[in-house]
Amino acid sequence: MPTRKPAPLKSVTVTPELRRRALRLLDNLKEAYPDARCELDFTNALEALVATILAAQCTDARVNMVTPHLFKKYRTAQDYLDADEDTFKEEIKSTGFFNNKTKAIKAAAKLLIEKFDGQMPKTMEQLVQLPGVGRKTANVILANIYDIPGIVVDTHMLRLAKRMGFTTQFDADKVEQDVMAIFPGTEWIKLSHLIPWHGRRCCTARNPMCEECPVAEYCPKILE
Ligand code: SF4
Repeated sequence: MPTRKPAPLKSVTVTPELRRRALRLLDNLKEAYPDARCELDFTNALEALVATILAAQCTDARVNMVTPHLFKKYRTAQDYLDADEDTFKEEIKSTGFFNNKTKAIKAAAKLLIEKFDGQMPKTMEQLVQLPGVGRKTANVILANIYDIPGIVVDTHMLRLAKRMGFTTQFDADKVEQDVMAIFPGTEWIKLSHLIPWHGRRCCTARNPMCEECPVAEYCPKILE
């Protein structure tokens, strides 16, 4: 029997009202969380790359416990490539999926050396060529290291953008496009810090605290 293709999801229509609501919601987030920032610790693009690969299926807090030792020991792409595989796996073990993460970090280091002279590239197009690097990781690096605006679609952005009525999509690339269409580019980096911050403290996956939420007034609360 032929299977029927699922109908494409209806997109959110970007209207002036939606943009106004979105900006008010953003203002409230800024007021509620003046210190919001990327919660992964890193000081350069290579560290950001390693930290974001380690953060897959792991909390930022756990990654931050592992990275001080790593960043002290491995300072260049060549250092990661030369690292003893078993030792490295042991060093990152507590972040989970350590076999795959070791492979990804070593493969990224290899490509950095072969193709980019050991230096981290500064464009989305080049960054996503690195193994283990998708648009999310690339946007973390571009925004936090090079101050190049982008929307970081992590698990919190995926969940909150839907609850807040900014997207109906499930695919991260489509959510990124939807959120970019609503907010001005000057707010993308800040929003990418505020949404995970709020998602961890108030609009959690299992228990959104709508009654105490600082943006409740501007949120349609689309909870599935
Ligand atoms: S009102 Fe509820 S659903 Fe909306 S952001 Fe706040 S906690 Fe999340």
